[in-house]
Amino acid sequence: MSDNRFSVIVLGATGMVGQRLLQLLDGHSHFRVDGVAGSARSQGRSYSEASPWRIPGAAPSGLGARVVRPLEPQAFPGEPGIALSALPADAARRVEPAFAEAGWTVVSNASAFRAAPEVPLVMPEINPGHLALLDRQDWPGALVTNPNCVAIPLTLALKPLHDAVGLEAVTVATYQAVSGAGFAGETAWDMIGSVHPHPGDEEEKVESEPRRLLGRLGTNGVEPADFPVSARCVRVPVRDGHLCAVSVKTKQPIDPTEAERLFASWHPPITDTLPTAPSHPLRVVRERNRPAPAYDADAGNGMQVTVGRIETCPVMDLKFHALGHNTVRGAAGAALLNAELLAEQRAGAEA
Ligand code: NAP
Repeated sequence: MSDNRFSVIVLGATGMVGQRLLQLLDGHSHFRVDGVAGSARSQGRSYSEASPWRIPGAAPSGLGARVVRPLEPQAFPGEPGIALSALPADAARRVEPAFAEAGWTVVSNASAFRAAPEVPLVMPEINPGHLALLDRQDWPGALVTNPNCVAIPLTLALKPLHDAVGLEAVTVATYQAVSGAGFAGETAWDMIGSVHPHPGDEEEKVESEPRRLLGRLGTNGVEPADFPVSARCVRVPVRDGHLCAVSVKTKQPIDPTEAERLFASWHPPITDTLPTAPSHPLRVVRERNRPAPAYDADAGNGMQVTVGRIETCPVMDLKFHALGHNTVRGAAGAALLNAELLAEQRAGAEA
């Protein structure tokens, strides 16, 4: 493997998404991991001591012996590269601008800056053009965000419909895995033998982020797409995989057969050169008991969203289920796709 790969570091490397990121970065063709950082709890400790490996699949070799560094740019001397952030929103609000100010390109999973007017909220398959917002940032570096773990599978499924027939309104009920709450997660008391209505601002994110992603970039920033989204979110006792039960009202009529064809054939060419992108972001299943987290969360190495139960809706126009792996497609893989897109653009500009 050549080693003129881009240098990356991982902020919040010791958490659920941090471990996924490090797993996806292991042996990556574009990126070399040059450092890991965590909270005061982890700093100065070896990675294996600070963050025992907890996710399926092996830990990258050599990771356990790395020392976890502080969440400060001074802890990473040398040329600033790409900082992939898996920090909680509060920490991200403080740490990410400090890295961007020090010249780093921060690619973040956190919600802290997703709605900031000059910060692109991007998925390469949906709105790569929104990266033009980077020209409006004042930092020597840059800050790019990816959406919430439900907004990602939802928006991937909405995009082909939005393009082909237009959307009037969307309702979604979500069944979200416990890994979505990080390693500390919900309490066992709330989760065992129960479902847990999301107490935070998850529903607001799911209602706003797809509209921003599908919106137009104009002179005044991003103008959100003009359809309303109504969301209800609950956590269920499932390890990985968020299931969305979606109903849509469309501007032009569409039947389930045509919708299935649109989902299954959708191929955004921009992702052809991104190593982590599947050639088809959506896969369709026809069995009536699918998609289900246990069978479908890992599709396409966790990067494909599975759509099924595509039927006429007697209240709206069309209903279907969409399921995505929340820590892969909904978090680590989404940030990695954005980093791959930025790296390709940068390599293209330098060529
Ligand atoms: P997590 O397992 O709780 O990990 C949080 C990470 O942030 C750890 O590395 C932790 O470091 C660090 N951290 C925690 N509190 C901190 C503080 N006060 N100051 C500095 N660092 C702190 O959470 P996660 O599930 O990986 O989520 C990470 C981010 O991704 C969050 O913004 C979350 O909303 C977003 N996200 C998560 C998912 C998902 O499915 N889990 C999906 C989409 C987006 P130590 O271990 O050293 O304490």
